Order: sequence, then structure tokens, then C-alpha cells
Amino acid sequence: MIIVTTPGISDAELDHIRERVETLGLRTHVSRGERRTIVGCIGDERRLEDAALLSMPGVESVTPVLKPYKLASREFAAEPTVLRIGDRAGATIGGRQLAVIAGPCSVEGREMLHRTAREVRAAGATLLRGGAFKPRSSPYAFQGLGAEALDILGEVRAATGLPVVTEVMDTRQVELVAAHADVLQIGARNMQNFSLLAEVGRVQRPVLLKRGLSATIKELLMAAEYVMAEGNRDVVLCERGIRTYETATRNTLDVAAIPVLKAETHLPVIVDPSHAGGRASLVAPLAFAAVAAGADGLIVEVHPCPEEALSDGDQSLTPDAFAALMRQLRPFAEAAGRTMPEGALPRGEPHESAHAAGREVAA
Ligand code: PEP
Ligand code: MN
Repeated sequence: MIIVTTPGISDAELDHIRERVETLGLRTHVSRGERRTIVGCIGDERRLEDAALLSMPGVESVTPVLKPYKLASREFAAEPTVLRIGDRAGATIGGRQLAVIAGPCSVEGREMLHRTAREVRAAGATLLRGGAFKPRSSPYAFQGLGAEALDILGEVRAATGLPVVTEVMDTRQVELVAAHADVLQIGARNMQNFSLLAEVGRVQRPVLLKRGLSATIKELLMAAEYVMAEGNRDVVLCERGIRTYETATRNTLDVAAIPVLKAETHLPVIVDPSHAGGRASLVAPLAFAAVAAGADGLIVEVHPCPEEALSDGDQSLTPDAFAALMRQLRPFAEAAGRTMPEGALPRGEPHESAHAAGREVAA
């Protein structure tokens, strides 16, 4: 149930409404916007049927929410959610400024992470990514450096000021990863690991939730609801391509998911063009499409030497290609009514990879 309050409602009136709802056994969630305040009510809505809420001072309207996700739904929030990450000015996700998260698929060592972080920061990235615990399809593939990688991420954050995003795969690691990372990534393969979702819902760290390989948009939103229902409201959704019959790309980027999600939820929506395309030459065109379609940001894999990468080298950009991408993103961001991160490189010539990708697919 959504209670929209009248403009200029007093604190006492608001408290009174909340008390009334809570005495009837429901929980309340208040979202204050610039012009109006919304009280979301979670629980058995039938108990509110005879509560005459409309007669209470400060109540403008009362509307049932029929969707299975409530806290994540647009109706529950007065404004789109804007997350401030870490303590770095400008590291926001949501809002007008495009968020750009960049870095290697996996943290492979100290030197490579320092170098990648410096280079992506110089090009305008606002957050650093790097896997410590990796969900690999084969148990014999490189699984990440684990706790050692978390220490390296912390070191590089201190050196560059970039907040760090890293994946947590297991409920037993949540505390450890949360102690080192600014954002907890839930990978596509764990999007419906409900105990993991609940566990990250109990820590105060923003969560980057990636869409499952075969998950519908509704399932993604319900996964976000699992996190939010535990108290952590700071969730970012990530479209990273879904599995379809198409084999020309690693996954099929569902561009339509961006406007659909933006209409359904107040949470920020970002796109991972690297895991969607699976090839470096596809990253720029998919990133352009994502930003043009209204994405709040991007997460991009960048490696100092992709051919030597221990995971996802094929889809990793070199630092130079990433810098070129940042230059070329600007007109797309501006066309979508967004600003580039402060410090992002100025506009450059059309990026060769956008055209190269076309040739490669046609060949
Ligand atoms: C990753 O970000 O490196 C990753 C494993 O992504 P996904 O969970 O989307 O496959
Ligand atoms: Mn990867």
C-alpha cells in the first residue's frame, strides 16, 4: 500500500500515520522527495481496509501495490535513488552524472591493478572493479586471488581514491568482502541465491546486482527486493546480457530492459557491455546503445594486456581503447540528458572500434 501525503505535511502528522499503520501490524518505509513524501506499507494490506486512512490529516491518497516487488518499485520512492559511493566526491550511481566502473575481470596482482586503476581514472572512470573471488564455469580455471586480492583492492583504493567494486559469492564471505569493498557485486550466477541476497541485505554496503543468465526483468526486481527487505536499500541493477539462441555474441544484451527497468523501479540501472558482447570490439557499440537507451552507468572490463589476462581477456579493453570509449561516449551521454563524470576525457573522433565491430560481424 502506498500512502501519498499532502505537500507540507507536519512531522507529527507523518508520525501519526506511521503509528496507525504499524499498530495494525504492517511495516512502513518513508521516502521523502523534494515536493512530496510517500509512506510505503509492507505486510497484509487487508488489515488497512477499515483503517479509514484517507480521513487522517496529511493523507492525500492511498493506493494498493499489486506488484510482487514493493520497496524496489517506482511507486515506493518519491525520487529516483542516487547512491553516493565511498567518500570520493563524484562517485555516485544514479542521478544525472553517468557512472563508469572500470577495471580488470580479476585482480591478478598488485602492479597490474595499480596500473589499470591509474589509467582508468585518468580517462574518467569513477569506480574501480576487480574480481577477488571468481565464479568460473570450470573448477580448473583461475578462481581469483581471494583474500589477497581484497588487500590489493584496498591498497589501490587508498592510492587512487577510487572506490572498489568486487564480487561476493558466498554468505560466509560477506563480512570479509564488506570490510574491504565499497560495493558488493552479486554475480549473474548468484542472482537467485536467496540466502546470499538476504545476507548482503543485512550489511550497510551498496549492492551491484547483476541480472541472471536466464532471469526475467521481474525476477531481477524480486531479487533486489530480497536485499531491500532486509534493510539495505542501496541496490544497483545491472543488465549484462542474457542467454538466447544467438551464438554470435557471448550473451544477448537486452537493451529494452533499460527503459523497462527505469519505468518499473527507482533503483539505478547500469549495463555491462563486456560480458554481454564477449568481445572487445563489441564493447563500445553496446556501451553507446546502453547510454542512449537511458542507462545510469556502465561497468567495463579493462586489462593492461588483454591477451595475457587470466580471465575474460577476449572482452577486455586495453587502457587506450577504454580512453577512446570515454571520449566517444560523451555525445551519447549528452543526447540522453546526462553529464560525463568530472575529469572524463573530452570528446574525440568517432571510435574506430564502433566501425571495426560492424566489419567484423559482417565478415
Ligand atoms: C564479472 O563481472 O566478472 C562477472 C563474472 O560477471 P557476471 O556475473 O555478469 O557473469
Ligand atoms: Mn569477467
